[in-house]
Amino acid sequence: MTEPVRPDALRPDPALIRGRRQWPLPRQADPSAPLLEVENLAVRFKMPGGSVKAVDGVSFRLDDGEALGIAGESGCGKTTTALSLVQLLPANGRIRSGSVKLFGIDLAQKSERQLNRYRWREISLVFQGAMNALNPVQRVGHQVAEPIEVRLGQSREASRRRAAELLDLVGIPAARASAYPHELSGGMRQRAMIAMALACDPAIVIGDEPTTALDVMVQAQILQLLEQLRRDLGLSLMLITHDLSVIAETCDRVMIMYAGRVAEEGPVRRVFTAPRHPYTRRLLSAFPNIHADRRTLEVIPGQLPDLRNPPPGCRFAPRCAEAMAVCSTEVPAEVRFDDGVRVACHLFPSGAAATAETAAPLTVPAGAAVEGAR
Ligand code: SF4
Repeated sequence: MTEPVRPDALRPDPALIRGRRQWPLPRQADPSAPLLEVENLAVRFKMPGGSVKAVDGVSFRLDDGEALGIAGESGCGKTTTALSLVQLLPANGRIRSGSVKLFGIDLAQKSERQLNRYRWREISLVFQGAMNALNPVQRVGHQVAEPIEVRLGQSREASRRRAAELLDLVGIPAARASAYPHELSGGMRQRAMIAMALACDPAIVIGDEPTTALDVMVQAQILQLLEQLRRDLGLSLMLITHDLSVIAETCDRVMIMYAGRVAEEGPVRRVFTAPRHPYTRRLLSAFPNIHADRRTLEVIPGQLPDLRNPPPGCRFAPRCAEAMAVCSTEVPAEVRFDDGVRVACHLFPSGAAATAETAAPLTVPAGAAVEGAR
């Protein structure tokens, strides 16, 4: 069997990517700034009984042509982080602090009207369950053409032509452009959603569990399609998923979130084969691996904390087998290692020489490495 080609080997030269854009950069853009830089993002939801600290001090960066996977249990803040980039939060949610810089422009400071310049044109989304996301009474071709006409001001004819090209690009024959969503298979509907997300030639596509509702064969086809589009169009991807093998196969970097904070972030291969944060290790050991010895999958005891009143120190402390006294009182600082991994855990004190060699303890559970990250 041939060695699978690694996603990072397929990544186009970032210097070429901005030159391929169909539209000029936004007027306030700094051409030398990173594509996306999120710093200390905090998002709150107003709920009966208090304010939910759904995202608390999250920082990360996404470069041109890069794919970042975001993983963690339900309720850990993955989707909220992604939606807050273009402020598509539910009515009771708002960004409390932090910045979301796209080409150096802080989107967190933009008004609803100003954000329309960036939604779909710079950052677009593919949601899970295309049947719910697509309009059931409009033909898919029309739904792909609409954002081109409305947001880019193209003529109806030009929008239709471009929609047909995009449907072809994602593998939907031109004859199916006149179909309604219920007349397409689940895989075809998800392809139509991807065509919609590409309609305005965005720099970043966010996939929120884009393959969760699909069977494994169709899931593989959709992931292959995303990978091909990333390579051919120079897209940057943010992939939110519970499925760690999807991240292992598709992404360059992975960010593990727990209770609204980043536990660990780094190159996929490093994080999945040598996880450092106790939560990452538990998460990996709870994931099946066909190459591991037959074994019982681990469960992580306990539940996510109530984010209206989270624990004062490390939020994982009530569930962590390695918790120390300091963990209940002090928020762990982030430590960056020389192999590109950063970890927020008191097991790795800040100020210590943070090299990959000194990153012990690495008690990776047997068989915990995720398939594809080898
Ligand atoms: Fe466990 Fe303490 Fe590290 Fe939190 S900071 S993950 S409680 S060891």
